[in-house]
Amino acid sequence: FSCQPQAKVEKKLAGVGIPMQQDIEQKIQKHLSQLTLEEKVGQMTQITVDVITKGENAFVSDEPMELDAQLVLEAIQKYKVGSVLNTANNRARTTQKWNEVIGHLQKVSMEEIGIPMIYGVDAIHGTTYTAGATFFPQQIGQGATWNPELVRKGAEVCAYETRAGGIPWNFSPVLDMGRDARWARMWETFGEDVYLNTQLGLEIIKGYQGDDNDISKQGRVAACLKHFLGYSSASGKDRTPAYIPERELREIYLPTFQAAVDQGAYTVMVNSGLINGIPVHANYKLLTTLLKGEMGFDGLVVTDWADIENIHNRDKVADSHKEAVKMAINAGIDMAMVPYNYDFTTNLIELVKEGEVSMERIDDAVARILRVKYALGLFENPMDKQEDYPKFASKEFENAALETARESITLLKNKDAVLPLKKGTKVLVTGPNAHSMRTLNGGWTYSWQGEKVKEFADGYQTILSAIQQVNGTQNVVYQPSVIYPEEGNYDVDEVVDMKKTIRAAQAAEVIVLCLGENTYTEKPGDLHDVNISKNQQELAAAMAKTGKPVVLVLNEGRPRLISGFESKMDAVVQTYLPGNFGGQALAEVLFGAVNPSGKLPYTYPKYANSLLTYDHKHAENQEKMEGLYDYESFMEIQYPFGHGLSYTTFTYSDLKVNKTNIKADETLEVSVKVKNTGSRAGKEVVQLYISDHYATIAPSVKKLKRFEKIMLEPEEEKTVAFQLTAKDLAFVGMENEWISERGSFSVLIENQKVDFNLTEGKTFGATASLAL
Ligand code: BGC
Repeated sequence: FSCQPQAKVEKKLAGVGIPMQQDIEQKIQKHLSQLTLEEKVGQMTQITVDVITKGENAFVSDEPMELDAQLVLEAIQKYKVGSVLNTANNRARTTQKWNEVIGHLQKVSMEEIGIPMIYGVDAIHGTTYTAGATFFPQQIGQGATWNPELVRKGAEVCAYETRAGGIPWNFSPVLDMGRDARWARMWETFGEDVYLNTQLGLEIIKGYQGDDNDISKQGRVAACLKHFLGYSSASGKDRTPAYIPERELREIYLPTFQAAVDQGAYTVMVNSGLINGIPVHANYKLLTTLLKGEMGFDGLVVTDWADIENIHNRDKVADSHKEAVKMAINAGIDMAMVPYNYDFTTNLIELVKEGEVSMERIDDAVARILRVKYALGLFENPMDKQEDYPKFASKEFENAALETARESITLLKNKDAVLPLKKGTKVLVTGPNAHSMRTLNGGWTYSWQGEKVKEFADGYQTILSAIQQVNGTQNVVYQPSVIYPEEGNYDVDEVVDMKKTIRAAQAAEVIVLCLGENTYTEKPGDLHDVNISKNQQELAAAMAKTGKPVVLVLNEGRPRLISGFESKMDAVVQTYLPGNFGGQALAEVLFGAVNPSGKLPYTYPKYANSLLTYDHKHAENQEKMEGLYDYESFMEIQYPFGHGLSYTTFTYSDLKVNKTNIKADETLEVSVKVKNTGSRAGKEVVQLYISDHYATIAPSVKKLKRFEKIMLEPEEEKTVAFQLTAKDLAFVGMENEWISERGSFSVLIENQKVDFNLTEGKTFGATASLAL
């Protein structure tokens, strides 16, 4: 497939996608006529200094940073390298150091090649590799806010602080679907739902690139949509081959990417894995026919980490490194990330000379790279000035991060209104996550695995210190009881002094039990068992046995199973990975200053063999089975998608549609009344689901189609209105096309339900199946 002719790239609709400017396109053509083949291939190369210079020891070296910058400079001089990523020695720099390093690199790039280099980092919940930056909840927690404005603000702050160091390219957002609780990258996603993922994903792009996509403006960065397409796994372990039929790829995995491409995202990173047996990095149909053709993407496509060599070394699809380079570039890769171990540049130059890779393909790749560099304004202004960024780590930014953490926290259970706690309650705080800035932040924080947090996160509150501040230190006893090791396997913990903890629990009025996970990113976060660790289960059982009320606080990147002891917990609070302000936000929720309003962005599973998403297909026939067998429900879960309690109560009534029959081009008006029937003000996420009664492809039980987060004072009632069209009823049909079929549907909002009919069918777009 790597030698198929170039796809006929269809012209995009005007106003959709990356803005194209005639004068810039002319300048790009001029560069293409002047650059040598070597220089063009250099533009297509992205390096980080660690691996080049220190090989295997890259991540443990402690060389001074200045030396690394020097080595990158030499690489730019020798190979005309056009892009650099991440940091030397995998550690954070100050904005000042970033400015110095990037300033040097830009100077040399301009002198050597006359083209600025583009620096990229993974700034995924704040600008990860910059000391002193403002850290928001990780994406999964942002997903739990169901609040598009907060997500956008977080992205704006992240872009501003990233650019403050002179870095113009962010490898974010992750638009993959978090549909497998076992997956070590679940927390990098917005969770399991396509609609929620799309709505929030678009806000991140607007936050990074602005509404007008003018990324030359101050404080903006180019977004990078990751990881195209279907990053997922068959095994629950990271980067393992997935089998995803085209229908599901289009219905579940593609819509968010399509919306983001239409919004004008400038760059895309490719999925490291294999889909249906083909490495995505070598898949012409996915990268060229679909992404650059059908989807109309004009920006640059970068590989993920060393993924061209993986086509040969790991996937065994190319029988040599050279063949792997040929496959990847012909499939549509424009830039190779860290291509050290296989002589990317030499191989690619040879391939062009031998006619195996066309000059048109090289020029297309370089044009896409230059388009982004021009859009960022790097030619006129290769370096940002630090003094133009006075709001770095400002109170305004911190407040935004704190507010996002508050709205992400999700109250899953609150038996007998044990929460909120009264100030002055004698509290035992226990568990491995009680006193750790590292676990509040998760991976990609000051470093890849998040293990460098200690060095940089001074001055923020852990759960323990925040509780001490709110409740008075004299009312708080701390016994960790279970601890995580500082180094090594991220999925182990050890018991320290359980007896002491039990004694302390007996003397306390309430136990705040902080369980979860240590930090991890990617493969190091692979699991043998999705249950919460044995030691933590033991601690939970011991705490429950004391007879004292137990408030279980979860601080985890994915839903680790708690079904062994959940029934013995009085309250359960999910914090996800709430960032540097998560301790404070949680203490405010526990002691009632903040009324929780987070909602689960995923289904919390109960059993390891029931890892299903809420939008699964019907699989049991209730009427027939009941009474005949004593059987376990197909969908036996801990907490449903969208679940989250409040300290007040909301009552829904009067769900209405304006018509019972709509035609394919008509709009259905839906309204529902929501009343705060409790005693305090609170926020509620009104969630609208559609259930399709019958369809040619078995319909999902229900699907989220709209939501709105509203604020209600006690006794206040609001009417919330939504509009739906036939497009909202569509699914990917037999021919892999989006279709709406006529028939009957239900609108479901909380405990309300109303039916309507679509009286005629409709097909959206005429997409030919790609036989993926
Ligand atoms: C990850 C990407 C990331 C890249 C660069 C890879 O291992 O999969 O998400 O952007 O590294 O750090």
